[in-house]
Amino acid sequence: MANPHVLVIPFPVQGHVIPLMELAQCLVEHGFMITFVNTEVTHERVLDALADKGLLDDRIRLVAIPDGLESEEERKIPGKLAEAIYRVMPGKLEELIREINASEEEPITCVIADQGLGWALEVAGKMGIRRAAFLTAAAASLVLGFRIPCLIDDGIIDHDGTPIKKQTLQLAPTMPLMNTSDFVWARVANLALQKIIFGAMVQNNRLVKLADWLVCNSTYDLEPGAFDLAPEIKPIGPLLASNRLGNSAGHFWMEDSTCLEWLDKQPPGSVIYVAFGSFATFSKPQFEELALGLELTNRPFLWVLRQDTKDGTNATYVEGFQPKTATQGQIVSWAPQQKVLSHPAIACFLSHCGWNSTVESVSNGVPMLCWPYFADQFFNQSYICDIWKVGLGFKRDASGAIAHGEIKNKVDELLGTMTHCTDRIQGRGPLVGWAPRQKVSSHPSVACFLSHCGW
Ligand code: UDP
Repeated sequence: MANPHVLVIPFPVQGHVIPLMELAQCLVEHGFMITFVNTEVTHERVLDALADKGLLDDRIRLVAIPDGLESEEERKIPGKLAEAIYRVMPGKLEELIREINASEEEPITCVIADQGLGWALEVAGKMGIRRAAFLTAAAASLVLGFRIPCLIDDGIIDHDGTPIKKQTLQLAPTMPLMNTSDFVWARVANLALQKIIFGAMVQNNRLVKLADWLVCNSTYDLEPGAFDLAPEIKPIGPLLASNRLGNSAGHFWMEDSTCLEWLDKQPPGSVIYVAFGSFATFSKPQFEELALGLELTNRPFLWVLRQDTKDGTNATYVEGFQPKTATQGQIVSWAPQQKVLSHPAIACFLSHCGWNSTVESVSNGVPMLCWPYFADQFFNQSYICDIWKVGLGFKRDASGAIAHGEIKNKVDELLGTMTHCTDRIQGRGPLVGWAPRQKVSSHPSVACFLSHCGW
């Protein structure tokens, strides 16, 4: 029998393309054939970055359809991309599926679409194809989305999503504390854009319920409260985790692997890894506070500074700041993050708390320092600091900035606490906030497992 043919389509941003590509890689391991659909712009970037690494398994075919915008300038206008995608891509996707299904190859029998692309699920449904929605964020964020009608009825937000008063919600005891001003749609600059984002979310939340499967890059152990409240969301994080450690594809930037050699030379548990994902940017004063804070820790650090950030200004920031010595710090423009986080030299991860970064850190047992910017990052911070207790947040000043002294103090507090704990049981084994459990369980030195007997 021929291999089943699945079409996978992510939202065209880095934090969505990587996990959907990881899922595609897992499916290929299980005998599926994959057509992976990016927008033309994303497709070019992925191909360029892949050229650096060697090509993917040829059972994953990469194809592109237009996103409906003419220029990079247009893509930078908030809301434009989402609007154009909705206008142009459904027709293009339908055309692509018709072409494939009319050709000699195996027809598409399932579409796996990003949860943010409800229209792709609609296209599949209309064509009589089975469909799965894939959530790249925490289940908690979709549970909150499903609650929107109740939030309106309870007078917490109005019909445009605007919070009526500032308050903190917790939907279940093991769920994050959610401040109404941190709701994904409420953290955008203007009301018109907020309305567009809120409207699209409400529509997507309705459409994902029509999917045959709704899966999420998370685990029950991390989010029992969220999965109990919405049992239709199925956690597949462990499946993706099995593919991690380096074979990951779908990157928009070429990885600078030289940092792994530098990490090899650092003592175990000594390096602060600093990375803010694919979007977050700094002002120059904030950059300087962070650079000074890192210097003051007197610990080695590995810092990812994307060169594209803020129209190239990162490049100028770096000119004025170089770690004093190569042993003190390394700056790279894009790291092989999953390999970095599993490296024994890493002590902690100073992160913007994107969901992928959070899951990657937690699954490698690396404690976090949380510097959220927008979207779901504030909820993720609450999971890390309040619920799982595997990290610390920073205090901000009235303008929202984080000072160098605060950065140094929190690094010392986080790593000092860990050292203190491990000192107390010195010679008996390390105490960690969160272990890479599958790796630990399968390690030859493990004799037995004292456990709470979760399934
Ligand atoms: N990433 C990487 N190298 C870097 C920085 C980030 O490979 O130098 C990857 C990271 O491993 C994660 C993704 O980019 O899989 C970022 O996703 P996340 O959800 O953390 O943040 P976003 O970019 O969506 O804000």
